[in-house]
Amino acid sequence: MGVKAVNTVRHDPWQAALTQFEHAADLLSLKRGVREFLRHPKRELTVHFPVQLEDGSVEVFTGYRVHHSTVLGPTKGGIRYHPSVTLEEIRAFAMLMTWKCAVVGLPYGGAKGGVVCDPKLMSSTELEHLTRRYATEIGILIGPESDIPAPDMGTTPQVMAWIMDTYSMHHGYSVPAVVTGKPISIGGSAGRMEATGRGVAIVARETARHLGMQLAGARVAVQGFGNVGSTAAQTLRAEGCRIVAISDSRGGIHNDRGLDPDDVLQHKQQAGRVAGYPGADAVTNEQLLELPCDILVPAAVEAQITADNAPRIKARIVVEGANAPTLPEADAVLRERRIFVVPDILANAGGVIVSYFEWVQDLQSFFWSEEEINERLERIMVRSFREVLAVSQDKQVDLRTGALARAVGRVAEALVTRGIYP
Ligand code: GLU
Repeated sequence: MGVKAVNTVRHDPWQAALTQFEHAADLLSLKRGVREFLRHPKRELTVHFPVQLEDGSVEVFTGYRVHHSTVLGPTKGGIRYHPSVTLEEIRAFAMLMTWKCAVVGLPYGGAKGGVVCDPKLMSSTELEHLTRRYATEIGILIGPESDIPAPDMGTTPQVMAWIMDTYSMHHGYSVPAVVTGKPISIGGSAGRMEATGRGVAIVARETARHLGMQLAGARVAVQGFGNVGSTAAQTLRAEGCRIVAISDSRGGIHNDRGLDPDDVLQHKQQAGRVAGYPGADAVTNEQLLELPCDILVPAAVEAQITADNAPRIKARIVVEGANAPTLPEADAVLRERRIFVVPDILANAGGVIVSYFEWVQDLQSFFWSEEEINERLERIMVRSFREVLAVSQDKQVDLRTGALARAVGRVAEALVTRGIYP
């Protein structure tokens, strides 16, 4: 959270999402009506609501919940708490969620929510009040059969617990399936916390295999050391990779001989940042992206790989742990330079896959072991990777366009099969 954008150029996340969608729609020769339908979000809710802060003052916050598509099922997608949240950004991420769910074959449409706030500057009580009021305001949309939120940047299992409790209080009985990414004690799933990072590591491994690159000893640089980046680093290290650089919003560290992510995590827990970790050189977030390495994992915020720095990226593989870390202009540069990019909707889908498992378990009140969860996650990630690779080879396009074509094709087929109401 809060990694300073490398690019000073203002980027437009919604335009970027549309540009990517149009590539896939062209490839599929989508009919005009279907294309128009999928270009638009189904519904967008903006809410303004008051929260009483600890000093007794009242502040009005703005929040959003956008449903991009309900074609394949109830909507699914995270809620982010961040000062830079805008409706355009939430709309873009809702669309990405539609493609993410579709590309890995989940029976969901895409949604996203957000509140403009800085959770780092708020007390736990203030965050609880903000969350309960926001959950109430979007209560007309969310529900286990309609729209199921999850954590995203700036939100945690505890935030999900408050949403679940608020929704349940309004209904008079407990509804654990209304959110995923909850603490295990209230119906959360084993393996959900680690799922996104694990999925990132699985596709990194599959990509290395595809390219004939040895994973053992491969140098990995990870931007962002939150939930996704830390688990990805730990899992890749367990697979034999050498983690040469790690950063968080306050800067990064580099050691070509390799870093121990568990140790770095411990340091971060004590010092509040990865910077200052003994035995490593300091690097900025910008420098980390351009370090010599084999696998680069941008797992922080959007818009990090730009037309400006893309020519200097040295990795052979980029695995997008974050949502939309690469701008469309940069994508073109990376493609030309034959850098293999595993796109966000595939690379970080592990989170929503295990969210789906959590929802299914809650609906059935029947829980699976972590082993079972991880096996199923592995199966879906590997199958989806191979399917997307096959599409991109068949159509002679990069993996992002292949993934989008697979996803958009699935949604378009369901849309046409359902027909137009009335
Ligand atoms: N926020 C995560 C994402 O962007 C997870 C969404 C979910 O689990 O519903 O994929």
